[in-house]
Amino acid sequence: MAHRSVEKVVHAITTLEGEGFVVHRPFPTPQFDDIDPFLLLDRMGPVTLSPGEAKGAPDHPHRGFETVTYILEGSMEHKDSRGNKGKLNPGDVQWMSAGGGVVHSEMPSTEIQRNGGTLHGFQLWVNLPRRDKMMKPRYQEIASPSIPTVSRDGATVRVIAGESLGAHAVIETRTPIMYLHVKLDPGARFEQPVPAEYNAFAFIISGNARIEGRDVRENDAVIFGRDGDDVLIETGNGCELLLIAGVPIDEPVVRYGPFVMNTEREILQAFADFQSGQMGQIDF
Ligand code: MN
Repeated sequence: MAHRSVEKVVHAITTLEGEGFVVHRPFPTPQFDDIDPFLLLDRMGPVTLSPGEAKGAPDHPHRGFETVTYILEGSMEHKDSRGNKGKLNPGDVQWMSAGGGVVHSEMPSTEIQRNGGTLHGFQLWVNLPRRDKMMKPRYQEIASPSIPTVSRDGATVRVIAGESLGAHAVIETRTPIMYLHVKLDPGARFEQPVPAEYNAFAFIISGNARIEGRDVRENDAVIFGRDGDDVLIETGNGCELLLIAGVPIDEPVVRYGPFVMNTEREILQAFADFQSGQMGQIDF
């Protein structure tokens, strides 16, 4: 099998989101826009917070894409305009298809707000194709024990979307997506088949990896070329990473803040619909 080449390595910028919490963001940045169908990746923390210090993202809308939240440490609470409410604990995933529109809040849990603690997690934005942009909003909340986890040859893989090492994810995606959380023991060599039509990238969470001759480190995103059957990741001292891939949607992307549509007109419509209350509000 031929391994995919490394097209480029981008190091995450550090910026503030929501009420002012720190995120590490490989894209979008002024240097690097997106990897169709992925619009954004934010790593929240890891950060250790004092009592009263935790900040989140209070009520805000989304339309036209999906937000995927994956918590590694600490816990987050969410509420939305459709009356949903939940809590994400370490290892849990929330895959929210905002579709035609939802208003939600994403906040550190009450315990963390009150007592402080460590928070660490990811949010990925996955674009929706034109046919699904106005779909009815849908949530898939998967508790940690329900996420298939497989170990082989020094690699432990949590299969959030797609499949790896014979295990299939429980989450359903609108377009074909692979989302793997991979931990490699020192000296491990991990080969993951990736279908030819997928765009793919890896994000290094910790440790060091060697990919097609490039040494990469924490908060690097490795963008792969579409020139091989698999990706090969090797490590000397061990590492932890996300491997994310999907079929490009290949449609015009017009994004403004929390809305991602195909045309300017649709963005204006999203603002109008939000302002006139058609995406609802959180009233509980
Ligand atoms: Mn949000």
